[in-house]
Formats: sequence, C-alpha cells, structure tokens
Amino acid sequence: MNDFKRYLVHISGIVQGVGMRPYIYNTAKKHKLGGFVSNQGSSVSIEISGNKVDIHKFLVELLEKPPIGSMIDKVKIKPMDGDTSDGFFIIDSSREKIQQGLIPPDMAICDDCIREMLDRRNRRYLYPFTNCTACGPRYSIIRTLPYDRENTSMSDYKMCTTCKDEYESPDDRRFHAQTNCCPECGPKLTLLDKNESPIACSNPVLTARQLLYEGKLLAIKGLGGYHIACNGQDEKAIGLLRNRKRRPDKPLAIMAANLEAAKLICYISEKEGEILVGRQKPIVLLDKKYPQLLPENIAPGINRLGVMLPYTPLHHLLFHEQLRYLVMTSGNTSGMSISYRDEDALERLKCIADYFMVHDREILTPVDDSLVRVFDGNEMISRNSRGYSPTALKIDSESDIIAAGAEQKSSLCLVHKGYAHTSQYLGNLEDMSVYEEYLKLVKRMNSMLDTGSQIIAHDLHTGYLSTQWAIEQSTEKIPIQHHQAHMAACMAEYNLRQDAIGIIYDGTGLGTDGAIWGGEFFVGTIGKYTRVGQWEYVKLQGGDSTIREPWKTAASYLYAIGVRESGYLYNVSNQDFKAVQNSIKHNLNCFESSSIGRLFDCVAALVLQRMHITYDAQGPIELESAIKQDVRELYPYAIDEKEEKLIIGYEGIILGILQDLKSGKGTSYISAKFHNTVCEATVECACKIRTRFPIDNIVLGGGVFENVYLLKNIIKALKQHSFHIYYNRKVPVNDGGVAFGQVAIAAKVAKEGTYVSGCSF
Ligand SMILES: [Zn+2]
Ligand SMILES: [Zn+2]
Ligand SMILES: [Zn+2]
Repeated sequence: MNDFKRYLVHISGIVQGVGMRPYIYNTAKKHKLGGFVSNQGSSVSIEISGNKVDIHKFLVELLEKPPIGSMIDKVKIKPMDGDTSDGFFIIDSSREKIQQGLIPPDMAICDDCIREMLDRRNRRYLYPFTNCTACGPRYSIIRTLPYDRENTSMSDYKMCTTCKDEYESPDDRRFHAQTNCCPECGPKLTLLDKNESPIACSNPVLTARQLLYEGKLLAIKGLGGYHIACNGQDEKAIGLLRNRKRRPDKPLAIMAANLEAAKLICYISEKEGEILVGRQKPIVLLDKKYPQLLPENIAPGINRLGVMLPYTPLHHLLFHEQLRYLVMTSGNTSGMSISYRDEDALERLKCIADYFMVHDREILTPVDDSLVRVFDGNEMISRNSRGYSPTALKIDSESDIIAAGAEQKSSLCLVHKGYAHTSQYLGNLEDMSVYEEYLKLVKRMNSMLDTGSQIIAHDLHTGYLSTQWAIEQSTEKIPIQHHQAHMAACMAEYNLRQDAIGIIYDGTGLGTDGAIWGGEFFVGTIGKYTRVGQWEYVKLQGGDSTIREPWKTAASYLYAIGVRESGYLYNVSNQDFKAVQNSIKHNLNCFESSSIGRLFDCVAALVLQRMHITYDAQGPIELESAIKQDVRELYPYAIDEKEEKLIIGYEGIILGILQDLKSGKGTSYISAKFHNTVCEATVECACKIRTRFPIDNIVLGGGVFENVYLLKNIIKALKQHSFHIYYNRKVPVNDGGVAFGQVAIAAKVAKEGTYVSGCSF
C-alpha cells in the first residue's frame, strides 16, 4: 500500500455552471479513486485518495481537458493523512456556507443537445429549451450565486421524474444540470399576434417559420432578451423593419442557418469559423462576398457583415431550406435598452413586430449579442455581452472597487477578491431605459458577488449619468481621465507593468484642461501619466449636435484653416454654413477638441458628403469602407513642439483633401490617402517621443482603433521601428472597456497613493 495517497485539491476560476462537479465525479470514478468534491463558490474542493499513478492521471485529465466553458486559473494541492475512502461523492453546495465566486456566462446549445432535439425517437424531439451541463442559459437567469436551480428563474419549474433521474444519475450527461428540463416539465413557447392573442396552431415554431418566410416581422424572446427577426433575403421585410425601428442605415446582424450558409455570404478564415461555431456564438464581423446573396439594405455602404450562427434550440428550429438567413436585431426601439421582460417587450415592440414568439422562462438580466472581429489571427471583442460577460480578469487589488464606466457603450466593472468582473454592454446611458438597467445592474452584480464597501472610480465628465451616479454615492471616489482609462484598460489586460507610450485615438472624452480629447499621446504606467503629444486643437461649434451633424464639424475645421466658402459641403446651405462659422468667430457654444473621431467625421463629410449620421461612428465606418484600392500617397502634415508637447497639425491634410476634391480624385483614393497620413503622422510622433523617453512599449486604445485599416497599418509601421505593440483583445478597445481601465487605475491608486495625470514633458 506504499502507493496509496490522499490529497486535498483546490481549483479556482470559472468552475460553476459548467458541469465541473459531475465531471470531477466521473473522472474520479473512471480512475477508481475515492473521496468527494464540493463547491466553494469561486473554487471547487476535492479530496481525492487512491493509487498515486491513478491520482496523477486524474489530475492531468482534469487540467488538460476541463469541461467546456470552465476556466481553471489556480490549482493548490496539499498531501493529507488518512485511509482510503469508499466511493466518490458530490457534496451538495446549497448546504454549505460558501463564499461568492465567478458568475458563469450563458452558453450556446451544444452539439449533443442539437442531435437529441432533431432525433424523432428522443423525448426532447423539437423541444426548444433542451439544455445540459455544457450548454444553456446561466448569467441571464441567475438570481444569486451559487449557481443552483433554486437560485435561477428555473426554480419555477419542478423537474419531472425522468428529468430528476437524469439529474441524479452520475452516468448521465445531465447529472447535476441545474437547468435540466423537458417538454413535460420545462418552459413552453407561445406564438402571439400583436394584440397579445395566442395564435391557434399545433406547432408554434413551424407557424413562426412560415410567417418569417412570408415576410412578417417577429419579436422572438431568446436567451438574454428579445430579437426582432425577419427573412434575411427579403428586401421588403428588411425595409419595413428599418422603417418601424427608425433605423435607416445602421448595419443589421444576420443569423445564418449554419457555417456553410455563412460562407456563401462572407469570407471566413479558420479562426473566424472557429469563433462562429464555438460555444459563445457572438456576432462576428466578416468581409462581405460579392456578388452578395443578401439585399444591400442589410448593411448599406459597408463592406462588412455581422454574422452569427443559431445559439438557442429555438433558433435551430426556425431555419429551413428556404429560410437560410434571418435578420436578428436587438429588440428595442432606437437607442433604448434591449427588451427582456414580457410585458415591457409586448408594449414596446408592438409598433415593430407583427407577431411575438414568447416563452415563460423569465430573463432576469438582459444580455445582448456580443460582437467580435478577428484581427491578425486573434479575437478582438467589440461588444462584450452574451457568452462573454461577466468577464472575469485577474487584477492586483485587495480593495473592492466599482467603476461607473463611460456614457456611450456603457458597462460596469466590479473588483472583488482579486478579480475584475466586467458587466455586459448596456448601451448609451442618455436613454432612460438604459440608465434604469444600469442602476439595476449595480445592485444585482453587487449582490451576486457579495461585495463589501467599495471605492468608486468614475469619469471626469460630470455630464455623464454614470459620473452623476458615482458622485451621489457616499464612499471614496477616484475621478479618472477618460483616455487614461483607455490606456490602463490595455495595460491591465496584458498585466504590463513597465512604462509605455499610449496612443489613444477616440471619439470624445473630457481632458484635464477642460477641452475634449481624443487624439492623445501619453507616457507612463497605470495611474501615472504624462500627456506628451496630441492632435492640434480645433475649435468645434455646436455642442453634442456636432456628433450627429458632421457637416458642422467640417465647417469648424474649414474655419480653422481659413476656408470660408461652403461649396465643399453640397447639401448645406450657405446660410447654415455661415451661421456655424460666425458662431466660432464669436466663440458661441464652442469647445476645443483634439479628437481623431471628429477629424474622421470632418473628412467623411467632405469626401462622402455624410452630413448627418443615424448611428455611432457612421462617417468613419463608411470612410474606411470606401477604401478599395492600394494607395501609397500621403497628405502633408506637421509635427511641432508647443509648450513641451508634440502637436500634430491637420491643416496640410485638409487643404490637401480639398485640392484632391477639386481635381476630381475619387473617394476611395482620398480616403486611403487620408488614412495613410494619419498612420504616418502617428508613427512619426511615436518615434519622436522615443527619442526623449527610451520606451519601446506602445499601447493603442480608443474606439477609433476599431478601424481595421488604421490599426493594421499603424501596427505594421510601428513594428518596422521595433516597437512592442499592445492593443485590447478581451476588453473592448472602445468605451465598453473604460470601466475596466478605471478599476485598473483605482486599484493602483488604492495601493500606492496618488493618481498622477500630468500634462507635459
Ligand atoms: Zn447541451
Ligand atoms: Zn422533465
Ligand atoms: Zn473613449
């Protein structure tokens, strides 16, 4: 018996809601080991005894092939004394006092469940709520942790005897599946007309499918909220959806029946294919294939499409040979939060949808579809939501912190027990429905994580509702500059502790000098920054309306470089143009801006005549899409030193663009030449900074880096100068990542002292 051993093993990470305990049970049984496994919230505790070779095999299997959806990030093994145990057991977590852990995200239906659902002989044949330990709803239905059925909205359903047997049988793949259900005992679907009257039909799914095929708009209750769906090949239905949703231009997401169908409409790399079929099933931004099988009004003027694959059992059942693509857009009216409560959805969406496909499983937390792209072979998250959130990243902090985030693309981030939990994307807080969800989420996440007294990190901008909420709280607060939060979000994601040069290209954010920043160069480390460069300030007229009316931004830039004729902006009257320029002359409702986002708006207005926008960053997105040729030329630009800062001037760039417009150069050419100039000026500025600060690390951050042409070419040129480049992948590079950056700075300040936000060399 020399080979007999007993160990206490602690594994932590995402270990709840992923079938970890059943998996450990089965693996221990397979290797003929004794002991027990119990849930400790953020960790699982295993007492394991038996032959040491078998224990070794057990541990290797556990660490190398953990269950789908789990994330093991720490393992502690301690030898113990004692005799062998007879059998292996799971100890029920609900009877223990446990500490709060990580929150498991929702997971797309797994292949085994799809197979069962499509098998005529299976008792779950065509059952639209089929799930198991490896798939199904989690975060969206959890009331509190630990993740046990009675703490979810599945507590309303009592398992039938057959389901209960599965749940209790260690050999079953639904052993301890908290959301286990079947047609006998689980949630049910109902199809309603817009007056909320049930449609008499033998199979609501088949009827819904037929209605979609006929061009109707359906509100469909999904995992984290309602979608508005229509046939993706029906131009008229899509036009109707756009009209009713008051969304004339914003690209709509497509759900394709399967990977093969997706490949017919887009180019899909190996990595993109992996993500599309993976367990998180986000919307993946892909390059369109031409000629395009789908109508142009899905994503007008843009050469990319957002595509996802079915992720709930119901989605799978909706497709058919004649229905291969569905437009699946968030169930909301323009700007509002996604609808997820039935009553509210029926009220809000009846002006859009012809029919409602509802079910009786309550959604407790709304979670929109996530949006990702693949860049340089890696996944980059643009909208952090279903399947990803709450994202748990390690952070060096002993304090509990909550970060209020930004205003647009808002999210929250809570630090508790060394993890930063970033919430799902909520939308723009200016909309009351989004702000209400924001307040609910603060409460819900605090209660799920069982947080203590928190330091609050927030933006400098007191106009943001997130900042106003923060200011009203009575605990310690740390105001953080917006673009420094962007820089910290990247440094913390990589745990980069050395100094870096931060290049933050963004829409808008309040600077420490009261100006609007967004074309910034910093040097420093998390919590200690010096602003060493910027794009030259321009005086913009018109407050927030400049964002929705980019022609005003263009008129402001033209004023700054001495151009007084309105002729470059075709659809703007001379009178309106003059009114803006006169207001600048008299300094009425003006602010200084170094934002690159606004420079792109100006160029989009001049080059594409994009005078008004109906969705965020429309001008810059269309400008990038306009590039269709290989252009090497550049516009002239200047980098000057002023008050110990490097200033990149825009005058030469805009004059050059006006010259090219006059001589009839095409939009593709001008757009490429403009992008090239921004890249060249950026890299030259970084090199100049390095001559004063011997720093090779470069951090790229801010929403403008969602522009792939810019990101790709700046990285390429920086690499030629031997810089080491970092940009966000797990955390959104846009304002969705600001909350995580805020907690990174607050954690550092709480530990080491003052936040330094200097403004010169
Ligand atoms: Zn499954
Ligand atoms: Zn059942
Ligand atoms: Zn930002």
